[in-house]
Amino acid sequence: MHPVNRDPILLTPGPLTTSLHTKTAMLRDWGSWDASFNAITAQIRARLLAIVNGHDSHVCVPMQGSGTFSIEAAVHTLLPRDGHMLVLINGAYGKRMARMVAMMGRRVSVFETGEERPIAARDVERLLRADPSISHVGLIHCETSTGILNPLAAIAAVVAAEGRALIVDAMSSFGALPIDAREIPFDALIAASGKCIEGPPGMGFVLVRKSALEGSAGNSQSLSLDLHEQWSYMEQTTQWRFTPPTHVVAGFHAALEQFVAEGGQPARLARYTGNYQALMAGTAQLGLAPFLDAAVQAPIIVTLHAPADARYSFTDFYARVRDKGFILYPGKLTRAETFRVGCIGAIGAQDMRLAVHAMGDALREMGLSAPPGA
Ligand SMILES: *Cc1c(COP(=O)(O)O)cnc(C)c1O
Repeated sequence: MHPVNRDPILLTPGPLTTSLHTKTAMLRDWGSWDASFNAITAQIRARLLAIVNGHDSHVCVPMQGSGTFSIEAAVHTLLPRDGHMLVLINGAYGKRMARMVAMMGRRVSVFETGEERPIAARDVERLLRADPSISHVGLIHCETSTGILNPLAAIAAVVAAEGRALIVDAMSSFGALPIDAREIPFDALIAASGKCIEGPPGMGFVLVRKSALEGSAGNSQSLSLDLHEQWSYMEQTTQWRFTPPTHVVAGFHAALEQFVAEGGQPARLARYTGNYQALMAGTAQLGLAPFLDAAVQAPIIVTLHAPADARYSFTDFYARVRDKGFILYPGKLTRAETFRVGCIGAIGAQDMRLAVHAMGDALREMGLSAPPGA
């Protein structure tokens, strides 16, 4: 075998591979009351807001926990108790958002398309016109369960024209795909530390329209997931309301500095696109077909069909590729045997070519070599 003398590269959409600089930024203990730590929090908030040009309209509220905690905080806080949310679903994260709205006892409707089909803005328009009681729309920008990209700008325009509020789960797109708050109307856009900014996992953040947040006091039925309380406490004290994940905050801050130094969102998109293209070229040679049409695929995470062969098992494939230094991600589809490869993280196209090599070697070891001509 090929023992690798380093941590495996994570081809997973969070946690993902972080840079050495980001890792070493976590080798300090910080006091949560200390001014230097709170200055880091303030810088993170400003930098995140700048990525979407949101300074005039929005504020950034960080939140402890994984990304889901921040989505739940946003929905709990922004959706009034007598509100009605329409959740647009074409994958597992859309289903998760609908479930959390139902669990908090608020009214929820869903609109679901196939997992290979983006949500169409004209469907959203039709649904909103048919039901004036819908106050909020929930959208997953890049549905990480397949890697499909939903048309955020078109849907946001329709939602705004119909006078409703939009809550966007941009977890796996923020920082990589362009999103400008001056052009795309949204009340809340949510992402997390351990995705395209390439920090460690452990905190999320909501970019929230200030006027919507100001009017949301008392909406949340959750103590810890109350975005308004988190915000007002942070504004008054500069501190986090409850214990902050200090090492994660420091690592995330370092990751954001590198994000800016690399050239911000355009540079990140260019690098991820290079990773994506290297992956697609290599896996095509191995005879592995993508699940999605290239036209609807984001360069974030790719779902690939597994070889149609009884000798294939993901567990075996995964273990062999891991032993060669790369961590793959299982598929999330029920109707097809697939696996996923993330294009995000502190990696480049050469890492991706080596990963494809490892996949090819693993398939050959399993007796599943590429078809003739590959
Ligand atoms: C990663 C991710 C989340 C958050 O998942 P957590 O496990 O809570 O971090 C939510 N939505 C999307 C689209 C994601 O990719």
